[in-house]
Amino acid sequence: MHTVYTIIDDIADNRRIDITQLDTLLKNDDCEADEYLFFKAREAANRVYKNKIYIRGLIEFTNHCKNNCYYCGIRRSNTCIQRYRLSKDEIISCADEGYRLGFRTFVLQGGEDLFYDDDKICDIVSAIKKNHDDCAVTLSIGEKSYESYKMYFDAGADRYLLRHETADKEHYGRLHPPKLSFENRIRCLYDLKEIGYQVGCGFMTGSPYQTTDTIYKDIKFICELEPHMMGIGPFIPHHDTPFAAESAGTAIITLRLIAVMRLLRPCMLIPATTALGTIDHGGREKGILAGANVVMPNLSPKDVRNKYTLYDNKIYAGSEAAEHIRLLKKKFEDIGYEIEISRGDYKDS
Ligand code: SAM
Repeated sequence: MHTVYTIIDDIADNRRIDITQLDTLLKNDDCEADEYLFFKAREAANRVYKNKIYIRGLIEFTNHCKNNCYYCGIRRSNTCIQRYRLSKDEIISCADEGYRLGFRTFVLQGGEDLFYDDDKICDIVSAIKKNHDDCAVTLSIGEKSYESYKMYFDAGADRYLLRHETADKEHYGRLHPPKLSFENRIRCLYDLKEIGYQVGCGFMTGSPYQTTDTIYKDIKFICELEPHMMGIGPFIPHHDTPFAAESAGTAIITLRLIAVMRLLRPCMLIPATTALGTIDHGGREKGILAGANVVMPNLSPKDVRNKYTLYDNKIYAGSEAAEHIRLLKKKFEDIGYEIEISRGDYKDS
């Protein structure tokens, strides 16, 4: 009979996990064992990234979306939210302000908004790169063709975030309308890798119909894809979606999965997400202490921050706001970490 501690050592030493071990870790009710898991994950992160935290300036440039994901507050059928789009000049001003604050990576995220055709995206990416050639640009604008991804890459985009959402086809079909296909989502991730992006995938913890089995598939998929980045955050219901009455994911399961992924793939860039900070007041710091090494403060113009409502009560003020980076710096110093002013690229050893 394995104790939880033996399981944690086994995962850390051999960088693999089986479904029984995962099940035991997820159901564990021994807080000290959790602390040991987080300690081992921190050790693994520190070996690669030392005590440095990478920061990304998040520019949520449109909340228009052609998709209708059942979990997402900016889904097409939500007629209750006020929609917005940022102009090229507004996006560039956000990046300029971010540069002044010390950000060297800008993440352009949005719903799948066809207003921004490939030429517009390329134009925005190349303008930011022209102004700040020491910075990385990350795109997170959903599913596109190989050709579109290649155009953005050639225009200067360095990284692409596209959560796979779940690696179980049936589960995928319960989170998305039939129009969205699991195969296409996965195809996008492999295309992005082939083109040469630093690629990020990820999933929500506690999404409706998620099981240990689907989580195990997520872990196996991430180990096969070998992404450079991976985001895990709790599902949080939004009141104007079909999942309004579903329960939210929990901080503890999110933290355990961050730690497990750090042990399995020590070099991966793992954010302590806004969703984690939303369901747990000290969530971001706890994420770092469970092995995460990236944070993405909000750099969008202040008047649109409360409109990018993926879920209820999303935080965007205080240390979540890019202009308050000093607050964040202090919070991380208090737990023994330092924010690094750099592009914060993936390290492969
Ligand atoms: N449209 C792009 C895409 O599909 O990748 C990027 C924007 S999308 C809104 C960003 C991520 O937000 C999704 O991949 C999803 O995991 C997360 N998200 C959406 N609704 C959420 C919710 N209710 N709770 C937690 N995370 C959510």
